[in-house]
Amino acid sequence: MNVILLGPPGAGKGTQAQFITQRYGIPQISTGDMLRSAVKVGSDLGLKVKDIMASGGLVSDEIINNLIENKISNPEYKNRIIFDGFPRNLEQAKILDNLLKKYNQQMSLALNLKVDNQILVKRITGRVTCSACNKTFNTFFDPPKNCELKECGQRKLITRSDDNEETIVKRLKTYDEKTFPVLDYYLKKGIMKNIDGMQEINAISDQLFTIIAAVRS
Ligand code: ADP
Ligand code: ADP
Repeated sequence: MNVILLGPPGAGKGTQAQFITQRYGIPQISTGDMLRSAVKVGSDLGLKVKDIMASGGLVSDEIINNLIENKISNPEYKNRIIFDGFPRNLEQAKILDNLLKKYNQQMSLALNLKVDNQILVKRITGRVTCSACNKTFNTFFDPPKNCELKECGQRKLITRSDDNEETIVKRLKTYDEKTFPVLDYYLKKGIMKNIDGMQEINAISDQLFTIIAAVRS
């Protein structure tokens, strides 16, 4: 099945995508992670998107379309993708529909994590990611000692360069203006479920598993 994780920056999309991947073996495709990798290696793509990412705006639909088509067209991912951070505007939602049609696939669910803005700011400013396994922790809510000591032995935890207070304000504004209308798009399709994203991490994943299990059966 294909699933979309929706929600503002810091809502917990990446965190929950990792749980769904572990449970169901469906790969997570994060456009943000793909773009960050391109910036890190300094590829042409990375050079193109670096400034716009740093400013909290959206990179062009054409760039995102190419990244997504590369995945959807790969038989390995056929009808088994968790989309994290995409679609980010109505245009991308329509592009996704066209790609799904082109490669004979369907979207099963859009899961929307709802979180209040003041909590989002704390989640984003406290976010740290393990440089080895990409697992995300939070200095306020989910201290990273487990990963450092147990899960992958790696001690280097990274703070994303766009996770600073100034850019966060811009990212939340971009979300309100560009991404919020996407919720209505999936609501009208009848495949959207709202989830209270302010619960404990495990309570949210339990709820997501129940929703996914009902759609899979
Ligand atoms: P997104 O992918 O939506 O931007 P992340 O999954 O990276 O969000 O989560 C943002 C930050 O909030 C991370 O530091 C993560 O550890 C933390 N976090 C995620 N879900 C919760 C939750 N339910 N309660 C508390 N902190 C959370
Ligand atoms: P978050 O959900 O925490 O805001 P992401 O990792 O999804 O972070 O995105 C980081 C940045 O990458 C965004 O602020 C934006 O500049 C860019 N980006 C990611 N996905 C998209 C997309 N689908 N369309 C346009 N820009 C994107």
